[in-house]
Amino acid sequence: MAKNKKTRATIPGPLAAKALFFSDRTCCVCRVKGKSVQVHHIDEDPSNNRIENLGVLCLECHTETQVSGGFRRKLDAEQVILYRNDWFVLVARERAANLGRLPDTNPSSDLIELELATSIAEIYREREEYELLALHYMEVGNDELRDKYIELAINQGIEDEALISFRATQGKLSLVPKNVIRRRIKDLEVENAFFSLGRLYRETVNMKRRSKQPAKEQNWR
Ligand SMILES: [Zn+2]
Repeated sequence: MAKNKKTRATIPGPLAAKALFFSDRTCCVCRVKGKSVQVHHIDEDPSNNRIENLGVLCLECHTETQVSGGFRRKLDAEQVILYRNDWFVLVARERAANLGRLPDTNPSSDLIELELATSIAEIYREREEYELLALHYMEVGNDELRDKYIELAINQGIEDEALISFRATQGKLSLVPKNVIRRRIKDLEVENAFFSLGRLYRETVNMKRRSKQPAKEQNWR
């Protein structure tokens, strides 16, 4: 218990908050929702407070990292990293899906600072999660990388919803095939998703207006 107390005390609050946020306050190994969790130093060095070294674990799984001897193979650092990276990606995917992939007008740049952004992007890149990378660079406000990963994600194959949302963010909704827009409208009607439907109508109407007024093109960039 003394050890847990010490660990918690040494992780700066904002950093622990980020580790918890990206893990959805859920143990990255057993992934049981609602269990109490703690932020664990993966390499057991309490002074190594880099985000790459932090993993969110429940008390049981944390105990598994401490076992020694016997036949049980302990939960070692390499395993925790694999579980943690995999969990980060799943949480991010679920968040993206729940948001309806709404392009964020206020990038949460205070949440994603440089070091964290780099390590998150690294995890996504390693796993060729191009859609998450595109969303990630959208959030940190890097349009060049956003566009690069949007193209890669589209080549990889993405859902209609994501395609439309990405192209809308780029101001290139006209690149979305008409049949995709029609299919998406039909899906939204079936789901009674009036908010999203209204939004899509607005976007496509704006697109038509824009294409009729090429002189005002610079206004929507
Ligand atoms: Zn656990």
